[in-house]
Amino acid sequence: MPGDNDITVQIEQAREILSSDELAPICEMVFWRDDLNGTPAYVVANSIGTVRYARHEEDGTHRFEVIDVEGENFLEKQDQGAFSPVHDERSSLFPTASENHYPHAYESIAQIFDDPNAPDMAAVHTAAHNWEDEGGHRGEHGSLDVIQARAPFIAAGKGIAALGEVNRGIRLIDIAPTILHALGAKATDGGRSATGEVAGPTLLKRQDGVAATDIVDEGDRPERAVTFLLDGCNNNVLHDMAARGEIPNIARLMEMGTTFSHGAASSFPTVTLANHTAIATGTHPGHHNVLHNSFWDRSEKKRIDTNHPATWHLWSQWVSSEVETIHDAIHRSFPGEFTASIDEPADGGADYSTFGMFRKGRGTGFPESPHELPHASAQFVRPFKDYEWSTAVDHMGLEQATGIWSGHFKGDDYPLPKFMWVNFTLTDSAMHRGGPHSDISEASLRDTDGRIGEIIASIEKAGAFEETAFFLFADHGMEESNPEVTGNWGKILRDEGISFRDEGYGFIYVGVED
Ligand SMILES: [Zn+2]
Repeated sequence: MPGDNDITVQIEQAREILSSDELAPICEMVFWRDDLNGTPAYVVANSIGTVRYARHEEDGTHRFEVIDVEGENFLEKQDQGAFSPVHDERSSLFPTASENHYPHAYESIAQIFDDPNAPDMAAVHTAAHNWEDEGGHRGEHGSLDVIQARAPFIAAGKGIAALGEVNRGIRLIDIAPTILHALGAKATDGGRSATGEVAGPTLLKRQDGVAATDIVDEGDRPERAVTFLLDGCNNNVLHDMAARGEIPNIARLMEMGTTFSHGAASSFPTVTLANHTAIATGTHPGHHNVLHNSFWDRSEKKRIDTNHPATWHLWSQWVSSEVETIHDAIHRSFPGEFTASIDEPADGGADYSTFGMFRKGRGTGFPESPHELPHASAQFVRPFKDYEWSTAVDHMGLEQATGIWSGHFKGDDYPLPKFMWVNFTLTDSAMHRGGPHSDISEASLRDTDGRIGEIIASIEKAGAFEETAFFLFADHGMEESNPEVTGNWGKILRDEGISFRDEGYGFIYVGVED
């Protein structure tokens, strides 16, 4: 067991290596918490600069103050609309740290360190970096940069203003408050604000996000809300395909309602379950505690692996009791109403949940020959197991959703949902495999659009379309990586004698043996 002093030296060594010129092609930056006279403060470093900033609490929100900068303040550029539309993204692939943009960077970095299981430092991979050792995905996410953080955002239907495409963006943590506001949900007294202080009234028990009230028509409340989550969907690609008429059902929602051209920014780390939970609870990962795809539980001294088919159903064991989900908040405001969560691990409080069925030992019917299903692009579903698996999962989601809207599924009767959340996984699989700017990526969006069309048709058939608000978004973006830029900082740190665990890629815990 190494001594404390030894660990401090190793932590400093690791931070120096991760911010060195040598690692600059693969490591965009490394950051950690380093308080100043009792005020929370953070250091962000790479080969072009070191930025130290502090976080202050003001009227229930955070204000950030840059304390000092050595070299360049690369975090200053925070345009959520950078590298768009799609031809701008394609003509500037692999932006470097001095070219890149980091939406909400100060907030997105700081929140992670509010969790007691936060790492000693977080290393962020570059836009170009290709994890060759981990299977070499052509498309990547997880970083702080705008293309990996930027998810689409569309709102439409009853109670939603028809503003068309608006040049702005929101954050994923703003989505649940926006939906609750649209539904006319009751605020709770004693709710906690973004600073964690009792501020009430808030729409959720803890609320880091803010409702986008300007897209809601308060005189025309929807009776119901439905959300479509397209995992890992690149915002520019979705906009481009909608404009070209390739995804008519999504384009219909865009024509009916309001689309933010800069989309919705995910919280760091821009990975799946951390951000599904951020959307469901309106709080950052550092506050809802589903910190990363995997992380180290410091008190229990064990690894928590959140994003895995074998553990997804355990989500409720990891999420903080200090937050509530949108399902909980809807039940608080509308007692007796029914909510459904389809194919979604972050399902707390839902009356119907796919994972709830699994927990009860009931299947939802996995299709035997996925390549014969509708909305299954033959050229990809046959050769690629991941495309086939995601197609089967998303088809299963479609059957649950349309079944519930019809009033019956697998022998059970259901009322019309007040709220339904539908998660689609195919876009993430396909955009990882081919990168966001590939034929397989486009096929996944066409296939998903077909499923969305069938769900909307089932809502029309139930006579509920005119009274429903729709929200479409993703959990993070997806960025093209460069297959020529490979490597892993793990070996370099180990060769220097540093003993550590690297969880979820980039969460570095020093002095804990791997
Ligand atoms: Zn995801």
